[in-house]
Amino acid sequence: MEKYILSLDQGTTSSRAVLINEKAQIVSMSQKEIRQIYPKEGWVEHDPIEILNSVIEVTQEVIEKLKIQPQQIKSIGITNQRETTVIWNKETGIPIHNAIVWQDNRTITLCEKLKKQKLEKTISDKTGLVIGPYFSATKIKWLLDNDLNVKKQAKSGKLIFGTIDSWLVWNLTNKSTHATDFSNASRTMLFNINTLKWDEDILEELNIPKTILPNVKDSNAYYGDFTYKGTKIPINGILGDQQASLFGHMCFEKNSIKNTYGTGCFMLMNTGNKIIKSNNGLLSTIAWKIENNISYSLEGSIFIGGAAIQWLRDELGIIKTSDQSEKEALKSTESKNLYMVPAFNGLGAPYWDMYATGLIIGITRDTNNSDIIKATLDSIAYQTKDVLISMENDAGSKIKTLNVDGGASNNNYLMQFQSDILGINIKRPKNTEMTALGAGYIAGLKASFWDMDHLKTLNTNNTLFLHSYNKNQIDDLYNKWKKAIHRSMHWN
Ligand code: ADP
Repeated sequence: MEKYILSLDQGTTSSRAVLINEKAQIVSMSQKEIRQIYPKEGWVEHDPIEILNSVIEVTQEVIEKLKIQPQQIKSIGITNQRETTVIWNKETGIPIHNAIVWQDNRTITLCEKLKKQKLEKTISDKTGLVIGPYFSATKIKWLLDNDLNVKKQAKSGKLIFGTIDSWLVWNLTNKSTHATDFSNASRTMLFNINTLKWDEDILEELNIPKTILPNVKDSNAYYGDFTYKGTKIPINGILGDQQASLFGHMCFEKNSIKNTYGTGCFMLMNTGNKIIKSNNGLLSTIAWKIENNISYSLEGSIFIGGAAIQWLRDELGIIKTSDQSEKEALKSTESKNLYMVPAFNGLGAPYWDMYATGLIIGITRDTNNSDIIKATLDSIAYQTKDVLISMENDAGSKIKTLNVDGGASNNNYLMQFQSDILGINIKRPKNTEMTALGAGYIAGLKASFWDMDHLKTLNTNNTLFLHSYNKNQIDDLYNKWKKAIHRSMHWN
């Protein structure tokens, strides 16, 4: 009887369950969207019970679809939307509030206050992060301070906190395990990535009781059993989504790097067992900890990646589907003098300008829709180059190959231009479900489904994009991008 790993991928917009066979191939997948709740402008919530139910539903569905017995599943891996915060009562199992999603910015004022207290350097040194509403710490504080009764319950030890991985593990193990892994802990802004412990000073500063925090375990540890129709299946791995994708690409070596082209873009580089501090506004974070070996990474995010293509589709209406952008861009004969900067909500790394705004520059009498579509795809590639250069500068070494995944990485025009403008080759795996694969791989390691050496030999089925521009061509185009982006800055 064939054996499988079940990978549960709980993302921001949907939950997926994926079955992976011993050849590391995805053989079945099931997916369910989850509701986005927007109580106020800038607030984003999820219903934790709905998240849990959706995960159980897709699990049932994927097993039934492949018509296998639960005994054939040797191990479960979990990957999750990071930073999203849940607090629940450990006696009743009921959350005290909806989950506050990573995108939610209700704690901006609190973050400004922390910055005014000159805590930026301390927090960055301890956690590798830049103070922001994005991370769990201020979300936890908001939940605890929101209601006097809640504060009392927290002090009496009845409440516990978790990111989505912890919430799922606690429920799937029948309330027996309250734990998270190092990659998720490092996104809370409460975890000291030097000492690998919850940071007492930050906890005290924010008045968060340590008792509510989960136990932090290796990314490929045993987290307890999920009992499915009477069969106990061990949960053997947890990784935050971007780290799971890094693992899925098998970026195990120092300086190996991946970029995920989703709504935004997330670039992560493995920096080995050393923390590299960025001079360019990148984050230092934990990639994973496996059998006492810690790997760190540098992370850079671009706010608007594939979302710029959605803008072409939904606001301008000049394409009907995202993938149509490829055909349209190839029609354009414009000589790359037209630039689009999708700074719809400011600019992230390495510019960090909240006041930047979008622009299109270089328009002439004959500029047409295809040209604008091409310039928009190009903007994703240029922004990626900005972040990659920052990473190279911080790490002090040159990148040779970029691994890619995510929805927009399916666009061949974009990938070819990306390779050309970076001047390096790009490797796109046949299966771009890297997040689910990464969590599956890590769970399979613990279950001895495969070992690290075996993993490296798997999934070599990639599409390669080879760069074809010379240095002068790259410099000309990229210098103009820099001019365009500087015009978009400090607008508001
Ligand atoms: P997320 O996980 O952030 O929801 P996905 O990895 O599913 O994102 O990718 C979806 C994003 O990629 C959307 O913003 C969409 O516009 C963009 N996208 C998907 N396919 C293409 C394509 N062929 N060309 C360009 N953009 C694409």
